[in-house]
Amino acid sequence: SPSRSSVIIVGAGVSGISAAKILAENGVEDLVILEASDRIGGRIRKEDFGGVSVELGAGWIAGVGGKESNPVWELANQSDLRTHFSDYSNARYNIYDRSGKIFPSGIAADSYKKAVDSAIQQLRREETIRESIRGCGSDVTRVTEPPSAPKTPIELAIDFILHDFEMAEVEPISTFVDFGEREYLVADERGYEYLLYKMAEDFLCTSEGKILDSRLKLNKVVRELQHSRNGVKVITEDGCIYEANYVVLSVSIGVLQSDLISFRPPLPRWKMEAIETCDVMVYTKIFLKFPHKFWPCGPEKEFFIYAHERRGYYTFWQHMENAFPGSNILVVTLTNGESKRVEAQPDEETLKEAMGVLRVMFGPNIPNATDILVPRWWNNRFQRGSYSNYPIIPNPQLVQNIKAPVGRIFFTGEHTSERFNGYVHGGYLAGIDTGTSLLEEIRKGRKGEIQNHLLE
Ligand code: FAD
Repeated sequence: SPSRSSVIIVGAGVSGISAAKILAENGVEDLVILEASDRIGGRIRKEDFGGVSVELGAGWIAGVGGKESNPVWELANQSDLRTHFSDYSNARYNIYDRSGKIFPSGIAADSYKKAVDSAIQQLRREETIRESIRGCGSDVTRVTEPPSAPKTPIELAIDFILHDFEMAEVEPISTFVDFGEREYLVADERGYEYLLYKMAEDFLCTSEGKILDSRLKLNKVVRELQHSRNGVKVITEDGCIYEANYVVLSVSIGVLQSDLISFRPPLPRWKMEAIETCDVMVYTKIFLKFPHKFWPCGPEKEFFIYAHERRGYYTFWQHMENAFPGSNILVVTLTNGESKRVEAQPDEETLKEAMGVLRVMFGPNIPNATDILVPRWWNNRFQRGSYSNYPIIPNPQLVQNIKAPVGRIFFTGEHTSERFNGYVHGGYLAGIDTGTSLLEEIRKGRKGEIQNHLLE
C-alpha cells in the first residue's frame, strides 16, 4: 500500500527545493519530492560545451547593487560562485547592418531613444483605453493615435531588444527597483545549479556532490493528482502512487497549460482561466564554438546586434571572452516564434543560418563553427517554455488566482511570484512564500483537530 507523508512536492527546481527546505526546517520532515527528470535544477541547467560549462537556462543573477540585497546573490556569495558583470549598455552602439558596417553611434542612439519613447507612448495609450473601459473618468477621445510600428531593420532590432529582453527603460521592473540594476553572468564550472545543491545539502542527505536522500525521487513523472478534503493522491507515469496530506505543485505555467497532469476533480474555472491567461515566453540561447575568434573583443564589445528585415532573426549576440577567456564561444539568443522554428529543425540547419548571419557581419572568410548547442525548452514536456510573462500593466487578481491554493493543492514556482516572476530569485522567494503559507495551514489544521477532540 502507498505510504503516506505530510507533503509531496512536485518538481525539484529552485522553487520546489526552497519550499521543501522551509518545510523541513520547520518540522515537516516526512516530505517527498517527485522530480520528472533525472536531475534537480529544472530551468537552471549547465552543460559542458566547447571546454567550458555553459548555462542553457538561467544565466544571470539579475538585480544586484541596489538598496536591498538579492537573496540569490547572497547565496552565490556564500558559495563563492564565479560570476562576471555584464554591461549591456554598449549593445546599442554595436549594431551591424546588412553590409557588415556598424551603425554610427548618433543614428543608433537616436533610433534607441525613438523606440523607447514610442514604447512609453504605447503603454500610456493602453492604460487610457483600459481606464476608459473601466469607467475611471478617462475620456476615450484622449486616446492618441498608435505610434508607428517599427519597420526598418534597425528599428526592428531595437524593438526586439526592448520588448523581448527588458522593458526597464520603458517601465520600472521590480527586480531592478528593489535589488539594483546590475546583472552578473554565472561563469562557474559547478554551474548555477550549485546553489540548489547547497540549499539541498541543508536538509537532505548528501555525499560528495550527490544527493542520496530517499525523499528525493528522480524520474518520477506525475500524471495524475487526486484531491479531496481528506488528502491527496499522486500517480506517476511508472504507476507508483504517493499519498499525502498536501501537495506543493512547482511545475511551470507551460506544464500547467499542457495536459501532462490531470486533476481529479478538475481544477475550478477561476484557476483554469488564470493559468490560460498567463503568457509563456520562449527564450533560447544557442551556443557556437569556433576554432579561433574573429569578432572584436573587449568589455564594450561583449554584446552586439544584427539588424535584419525579419524581427528577431539572430538579432542578439554575446561573445564569451570576458567570462571565459580563450573559449572562442559565441551565444545568440532567439525568442518565441524564432525559438520554436529552430527547435523544430535539425541543428545543422540552424548552424547554417547562424553562419550566414555571421558572414554578413564579419565577412566571408570566417571559419565555420565546429560545434553547436540548441536547447529545446519549448518541446521539453517538463518545461513547455522558458518563463512566465505577465502583461506589463499589472493585473494583481491574475497573479493571485495563479498562486491561490485549491483545497490541499498549493502552487509555487516563478510564475506565482508577484514581483519577481520569470527570475531565479522569483522562484526562490515563491518557494519560501508557499512553504510558509502551507506551514500556517498545517498549524491551523492541527489546532482544529485538537479543538474537535476537546469538543467530543
Ligand atoms: P522549474 O525550474 O521549471 O522547476 C520545476 C520542476 O518541475 C522541473 O525540474 C521539472 O522537471 C519538474 N516537473 C515538471 N513537470 C513535472 C511532472 N509532471 N512531474 C514531476 N516533476 C515535474 N532567471 C534569472 O534569474 N536570470 C536569467 O538569466 C534567466 N534566464 C533564463 C533563460 C532561460 C533559457 C530560461 C529557460 C529561464 C531563465 N530564467 C532566468 C528563469 C529561471 O530559470 C526560472 O524562473 C526558474 O529557474 C524557475 O524555477 P521553478 O522552480 O519555478 O521552475
